[in-house]
Amino acid sequence: MIVMKDVYKKYSNGVVASNGINIEISRGEFVYVVGPSGAGKSTFIKMMYREETPTSGDIFIDGVNLATLKRRKVPYLRRRIGVVFQDFKLLPKLNVYENVAFALEVIEETPARIRKKVTDVLELVGLAQKARMFPNELSGGEQQRVAIARSIVNVPQLVIADEPTGNLDPETSYEIMNIFERINARGTTIVMATHNKEIVNTMKHRVIAVEGGLIARDELGGAYGYEV
Ligand code: ADP
Repeated sequence: MIVMKDVYKKYSNGVVASNGINIEISRGEFVYVVGPSGAGKSTFIKMMYREETPTSGDIFIDGVNLATLKRRKVPYLRRRIGVVFQDFKLLPKLNVYENVAFALEVIEETPARIRKKVTDVLELVGLAQKARMFPNELSGGEQQRVAIARSIVNVPQLVIADEPTGNLDPETSYEIMNIFERINARGTTIVMATHNKEIVNTMKHRVIAVEGGLIARDELGGAYGYEV
C-alpha cells in the first residue's frame, strides 16, 4: 500500500525532518506512528498524502509514484486517501450531513447516491440522528466522528490520521479508536500518528517509532515505548 525509499526531506529553513526513510506498509495494516515532538512524524505522514513532498527519494501509494505525480492529479490521489486531523477541520457553516456530502459532491455523484452513501457512513459512525446539527452543536468526539465519516465516504484504501484523539478525553478516545478498528476490519489500511500511550499499549498494532527523522523502531504489536 505504501512504499518509501530513501525518503529525505529538508525544509526551506534547513531543518531535516526525514533523513533517509525506508518503509513498507501492506494493505489492511493498522500502524501507529509514535515518537517525541519534533521527531518528524507529521512530515512522515504528510508526505503520504502529498501535503509535503520529499526533497529526494520515492514514495509509492498503491503503486502510484508521488514524486512524479502531476499536480493536477493530486486531488484524485486525495480522494483515494482519507485524512483525519486532531482538530477535526469541519466546515462550521455546513451541518453534519453537508460536511460529509461535500467530499462526494466534488466528484459529481448523483443526489440519490450522495444520500445513500452519506446516510450509510453516518450510520457507521453512530451519527445518523444528528445529521442536521452543526459542528458547534456537537461534542469533540461527535465532531471527530463526522470527520471520520467524511474521510471514508469515498471508500478509500488508506486512512491517515494525525493525532485523532489528541483533543479528546480518554473515554471518547476509545470510542473513536473503536470506529477506526471497524474501518480497519473492512480492509482499509490505517496509519495513525499518536501520543496516546495507553491506546497504543492496549489496542495492539504495528508501531513505527520516528526519531530524528529516522525509523528508530518498527514492531508488530509493539508498545508505545516513551514516558508521557
Ligand atoms: P512531529 O510531528 O514529530 O512533531 P514534524 O514532522 O512536525 O514532527 O517536524 C519535524 C521537524 O521539522 C521539526 O523540527 C519541525 O520544526 C520542522 N518542520 C515541520 N514542518 C515544517 C515546515 N513547514 N517548515 C519548516 N520546518 C518544519
